[in-house]
Amino acid sequence: MLTNLQARDVETLVHPYTNLVAVRETGPLILERGKGVWVHDVDGKPYLEGMAGLWCTALGYGNEELVEAAAAQMRKLPFTHIFGGKSHDPAIELAEKLKEMAPVPISKVFFTSSGSEANDTQMKLVWYMNNALGRPKKKKIISRMRAYHGVTIASASLTGLAGNHNDFDLPIAGVRHTTCPHYYRLAEAGETEEDFATRLAADLEALIIAEGPETVAAFIAEPVLGAGGVIVPPKSYYPKIEAVLKKYDVFFIGDEVITGFGRLGTAFGCEALEMKPNSISIAKALSSAYQPIGGVMIPEDMYQAMLQESSKLGSFGHGYTYSGHPVAAAVAVKTLEIYERESIFERVRAKIPQFDARRAALEDHPLVGEARGAGLVGAVELVADKKTKQQFDPKLGLAAKCVAFCQEEGLILRNVFGDAITICPPLVISPAEIDELFDRLTRALDKTLDWAVREKLL
Ligand code: PMP
Repeated sequence: MLTNLQARDVETLVHPYTNLVAVRETGPLILERGKGVWVHDVDGKPYLEGMAGLWCTALGYGNEELVEAAAAQMRKLPFTHIFGGKSHDPAIELAEKLKEMAPVPISKVFFTSSGSEANDTQMKLVWYMNNALGRPKKKKIISRMRAYHGVTIASASLTGLAGNHNDFDLPIAGVRHTTCPHYYRLAEAGETEEDFATRLAADLEALIIAEGPETVAAFIAEPVLGAGGVIVPPKSYYPKIEAVLKKYDVFFIGDEVITGFGRLGTAFGCEALEMKPNSISIAKALSSAYQPIGGVMIPEDMYQAMLQESSKLGSFGHGYTYSGHPVAAAVAVKTLEIYERESIFERVRAKIPQFDARRAALEDHPLVGEARGAGLVGAVELVADKKTKQQFDPKLGLAAKCVAFCQEEGLILRNVFGDAITICPPLVISPAEIDELFDRLTRALDKTLDWAVREKLL
């Protein structure tokens, strides 16, 4: 029986990423307020927000400094744009700060309101650059199976998940997907992680050759694949991939929308994974999600090509109304200030051993095939048979069942492709709260096991 608010909800809203039929029966969980890593529903029940919203509320809830930064900017100048030679202080300050923090040489920053817009922009900039460089055929972009880069037409094409393509007539032309670096699922018998990485680099090279290197413009990768199931590539993967990219003059786009700003204990995920992209997409933790803001960090050679092309055309014909929105930029500046002042990234590093140990221990659970992750992000993959790695029938929705049990236990997590349950708490989670998170998840896994046994699924 739906509450009044739930009934109004299902009569009015189309929910993103939701089973549109089931939600009409169950109604949504309606949240009302939050503090620290905790959120409360409209009945006052507290939940540990184990996903930091959507991998984004890095500083947790109820951060008054961020609220104040937004309010102060709204009072001063709630909106002005940076089109046609205009600018404002928060955008300038934010771009300066980002250049300072950049893990690879970065010349300029282009702002967006989301990660999808950042990756759309990346694709357009690569095309724009190659037109400027006089190589109009070099336009294809290679992504990876199970990558997640967003949902706009271009970024959803880069995403490597069938659910984002089927029935949307995607991917668009000129996007290809290479092998996902998931050792647990895709390694061949007896293959070491090193051999696996070598094979994946060879796969990429074969794809580039088959397409024609003169047609391949860029490769895009999240340091750790997030929404595809939190997949951490083997250590030597990126150096091997980068050697191939260099050989064929293929631009490397890093998508740091989840891993940017401390998630792996470093400012950027690529620093933790020996990855050296040419340009970087950012969003989410850039403002701790208190305001929607993203961006593209652009290297000097790309910028020089942009200057050249736009001088031919008279103007650089790309930009969103909210590119560099002053309130979003002011909140992002404050967020970066807090990360630095409170040594948030160092404190994440100190929490990783406990997080790792609790995560790894989940592999002892009868339902867990792999408990993987890096930094303060992880996933558990549920399997019907641990030895053979046999999966449950996807129609059973076992991970979704487990996430529902988590919710019963007062823990918010998400289930993604392949019966994986993802974990990505606010970076400010305390050691006691990390234990609480894993205790609740373990109880939910036990309930899922009981259910599976009752339903004779095992
Ligand atoms: N890239 C990555 C790595 C992401 O995880 C996401 C969102 N989960 C996006 C891009 C898209 O960001 P947005 O939802 O803000 O458009």
